[in-house]
Amino acid sequence: MGNWQAWTQEQKDAIIERLAARGFQGRCPMCSRNAFVLMDGYFNTQVINHVLPGVPSPSNNMPTIAVICSNCGFISHHAIGALDLFSVFGKAAHR
Ligand SMILES: [Zn+2]
Repeated sequence: MGNWQAWTQEQKDAIIERLAARGFQGRCPMCSRNAFVLMDGYFNTQVINHVLPGVPSPSNNMPTIAVICSNCGFISHHAIGALDLFSVFGKAAHR
Protein backbone atom coordinates (compact mmCIF):
# COMPACT_ATOMS: atom_id res chain seq x y z
CA MET A 1 0.00 0.00 0.00
CA GLY A 2 3.02 2.27 0.35
CA ASN A 3 3.05 3.43 -3.26
CA TRP A 4 -0.73 3.31 -3.73
CA GLN A 5 -1.87 6.13 -6.00
CA ALA A 6 -5.39 6.44 -7.30
CA TRP A 7 -4.90 9.41 -9.63
CA THR A 8 -2.25 10.09 -12.21
CA GLN A 9 -1.02 13.69 -12.33
CA GLU A 10 -3.00 14.11 -15.57
CA GLN A 11 -6.18 13.00 -13.81
CA LYS A 12 -5.55 15.26 -10.81
CA ASP A 13 -5.04 18.21 -13.15
CA ALA A 14 -8.25 17.38 -15.03
CA ILE A 15 -10.32 17.12 -11.83
CA ILE A 16 -8.96 20.40 -10.46
CA GLU A 17 -9.49 22.11 -13.81
CA ARG A 18 -13.09 20.86 -13.90
CA LEU A 19 -13.82 22.11 -10.38
CA ALA A 20 -12.35 25.52 -11.24
CA ALA A 21 -14.35 25.70 -14.48
CA ARG A 22 -17.54 25.10 -12.47
CA GLY A 23 -16.76 27.93 -10.06
CA PHE A 24 -15.08 26.15 -7.15
CA GLN A 25 -13.38 28.91 -5.16
CA GLY A 26 -11.42 26.81 -2.68
CA ARG A 27 -12.46 28.70 0.46
CA CYS A 28 -13.46 26.31 3.24
CA PRO A 29 -17.03 27.04 4.46
CA MET A 30 -16.08 25.94 8.00
CA CYS A 31 -12.78 27.71 8.73
CA SER A 32 -12.55 30.20 5.79
CA ARG A 33 -9.01 29.14 4.86
CA ASN A 34 -7.90 28.29 1.33
CA ALA A 35 -6.47 24.91 2.29
CA PHE A 36 -8.36 22.30 0.22
CA VAL A 37 -6.44 19.33 -1.19
CA LEU A 38 -7.76 16.67 -3.56
CA MET A 39 -8.28 13.26 -1.97
CA ASP A 40 -6.38 10.53 -3.84
CA GLY A 41 -9.25 8.23 -4.74
CA TYR A 42 -13.01 8.59 -4.69
CA PHE A 43 -16.02 7.69 -2.59
CA ASN A 44 -18.80 5.43 -3.89
CA THR A 45 -21.45 6.10 -1.29
CA GLN A 46 -24.41 3.75 -1.01
CA VAL A 47 -27.70 5.61 -1.28
CA ILE A 48 -30.57 3.86 0.52
CA ASN A 49 -34.01 4.44 -0.95
CA HIS A 50 -36.17 2.70 1.67
CA VAL A 51 -35.92 1.99 5.38
CA LEU A 52 -37.47 -1.36 6.27
CA PRO A 53 -36.20 -2.93 9.52
CA GLY A 54 -34.56 -6.29 8.90
CA VAL A 55 -35.05 -6.16 5.14
CA PRO A 56 -32.17 -5.41 2.76
CA SER A 57 -32.92 -2.13 1.01
CA PRO A 58 -32.58 -1.53 -2.70
CA SER A 59 -29.86 1.04 -3.23
CA ASN A 60 -27.79 2.90 -5.75
CA ASN A 61 -24.25 4.21 -5.50
CA MET A 62 -23.25 7.86 -5.80
CA PRO A 63 -19.60 8.19 -6.89
CA THR A 64 -17.98 11.41 -5.69
CA ILE A 65 -14.54 12.94 -5.69
CA ALA A 66 -13.62 14.76 -2.50
CA VAL A 67 -11.52 17.73 -1.51
CA ILE A 68 -10.42 17.96 2.11
CA CYS A 69 -9.57 21.08 4.08
CA SER A 70 -6.05 20.45 5.39
CA ASN A 71 -6.68 22.95 8.20
CA CYS A 72 -9.98 21.82 9.78
CA GLY A 73 -10.64 18.50 8.03
CA PHE A 74 -13.92 19.47 6.41
CA ILE A 75 -14.67 17.15 3.44
CA SER A 76 -16.46 18.49 0.37
CA HIS A 77 -17.96 15.86 -1.94
CA HIS A 78 -18.57 16.55 -5.64
CA ALA A 79 -20.64 14.20 -7.81
CA ILE A 80 -18.55 12.69 -10.59
CA GLY A 81 -21.55 12.65 -12.93
CA ALA A 82 -22.39 16.31 -12.37
CA LEU A 83 -18.79 17.26 -13.12
CA ASP A 84 -18.81 15.01 -16.23
CA LEU A 85 -15.66 13.27 -14.97
CA PHE A 86 -16.41 9.70 -16.07
CA SER A 87 -14.14 10.18 -19.10
CA VAL A 88 -11.29 11.05 -16.72
CA PHE A 89 -12.00 7.92 -14.67
CA GLY A 90 -12.02 5.80 -17.81
CA LYS A 91 -8.39 6.70 -18.49
CA ALA A 92 -7.38 5.10 -15.18
CA ALA A 93 -8.09 1.65 -16.58
CA HIS A 94 -5.82 2.15 -19.60
CA ARG A 95 -2.67 3.71 -18.16
ZN1 LIG B 1 -11.47 24.24 6.87
